[in-house]
Amino acid sequence: MTGRRYLVAGGAGFIGSHLCDRLVERGDQVVCVDDLSTGRAANIEHLDGHERFEFVECDVTSPVLDASLPSGRFDAVLHLASPASPPEYLRRPIDTLDVGSIGTRNLLELARRDGARFFLASTSEVYGDPLVHPQVEEYWGNVNPIGERSVYDEAKRFAEALTMAYHRSLGVDVRIVRIFNTYGPRMQAADGRVVTNFVDQALRGLPITIYGDGSQTRSFCYVDDEVAGLLALIDGPVVGPVNIGNPNEFTIAELADLVVELTGSTSEVVMHPLPSDDPKLRRPDITRARDELGWEPRVQLREGLERTIEWFRSELGVGRTTT
Ligand code: UDP
Repeated sequence: MTGRRYLVAGGAGFIGSHLCDRLVERGDQVVCVDDLSTGRAANIEHLDGHERFEFVECDVTSPVLDASLPSGRFDAVLHLASPASPPEYLRRPIDTLDVGSIGTRNLLELARRDGARFFLASTSEVYGDPLVHPQVEEYWGNVNPIGERSVYDEAKRFAEALTMAYHRSLGVDVRIVRIFNTYGPRMQAADGRVVTNFVDQALRGLPITIYGDGSQTRSFCYVDDEVAGLLALIDGPVVGPVNIGNPNEFTIAELADLVVELTGSTSEVVMHPLPSDDPKLRRPDITRARDELGWEPRVQLREGLERTIEWFRSELGVGRTTT
């Protein structure tokens, strides 16, 4: 599916901007729409003026979304617009629910209008605090519908339901990915997620903040791997949902140790209270992605963190410490 025209909603975000890069590189046309609420112009500024790239600043929940876009048919509409870091979506709970509901509806309507493929970036958060481990796509999840995190979890669950309703009742061609924790260059230092917090704290010599006792687990996927998985799904015949993430699981305490080692930091580790409904375990079962998309991650945590730390050093203007 190259040489096509894509609408990338949330294209100035962390994952969205890397996806724009890959699409433009391979010869596709990209219209990136983003309200820059959590995305950043800096993530796409290198694409400014590129003949196959166009940026439109607009909120996808806006009633004038359609009128704000350049004319012409899209071959695919990719929906990656949403706050994604827990502190961000907790700061903006209503916006998060809106972008998952109204935003998804608006973008599905565009896809329907154009007979385009619709791609939804869903999340491992649909599994909540999972009672099945590792998480397979068939698992329905364990989400607290009125908990603080529900603004994100339920928005994405609703978005999945709406996407499947458009598929089943209106025949829209859809793809759903469930993205697991992803990290790499272009994450914001102040984003509040664990990798960014630890790397930022380690490079600045600030205390490394472990929430809870650090025994909770996550499985971290390097952004280049993640985007390769998204493209395999976007291009391929599988509706999904498909988990895309790295199945190697680490405790948060192990992650802290690794970041300290790789940065050569002298930061101390401090314990903070665990946020409410924080999932205790998370690890994708990626059998479906391997078997049906021929995708699996290649970059392991140590290597991915080294690349990420290098990027953060240059962003923060922090020199190399001895290791
Ligand atoms: N976490 C932590 N210290 C931090 C930030 C996060 O210990 O400074 C923990 C958080 O409580 C969670 C895990 O790290 O258990 C991953 O958090 P993150 O916000 O990156 O994403 P989540 O997977 O919870 O969406």
